[in-house]
Amino acid sequence: MEKTLVLIKPDGIQRGLTGEVLRRFERKGLKIVGLKMMRLDEVVLREHYSHIASKPFYSGIEKFMMRDPVIAICVEGLNAVNTVRIMCGITKAREAMPGTIRGDFGMSVACNVVHASDSVDNAEMEVKRFFKKEEIFEYDKSEYEHVYIGDERS
Ligand code: ADP
Repeated sequence: MEKTLVLIKPDGIQRGLTGEVLRRFERKGLKIVGLKMMRLDEVVLREHYSHIASKPFYSGIEKFMMRDPVIAICVEGLNAVNTVRIMCGITKAREAMPGTIRGDFGMSVACNVVHASDSVDNAEMEVKRFFKKEEIFEYDKSEYEHVYIGDERS
């Protein structure tokens, strides 16, 4: 099964959306295999956001992401990377589909509540960036019997 990285951004923390975000992933049938609050610094952010580091808005994003702690979540499931991206919605939250996290809770492009890995390769790198090996947990989830059928489960 795939693992993907979600960050609840400082706006999500300030607005008390941590439980709501976790609840959505749990209800969907995804498995939480890593969870922690942490403060990000310039170094990790420059790595994490290297694809936007040259954009004029980057310094604002850096300030925003360092303003308060974030919550890092490692989510596991069948095609979890794509599923979680769909659940989060598009970057510009005010135009994201209702029913998505950004669509239901955001109005901004920058303050869009969550980050989610955008490809399987990036997910693998990002999980490693934010979690040590021993912070990712392997355990059986009994509800898998009802969430998946047959070979979907393996
Ligand atoms: P996503 O987070 O949807 O994968 P990107 O990787 O393109 O989107 O951008 C990373 C983050 O940078 C966004 O989630 C958002 O917080 C911020 N961002 C992206 N584009 C803009 C923009 N035009 N103005 C301000 N902030 C932006």
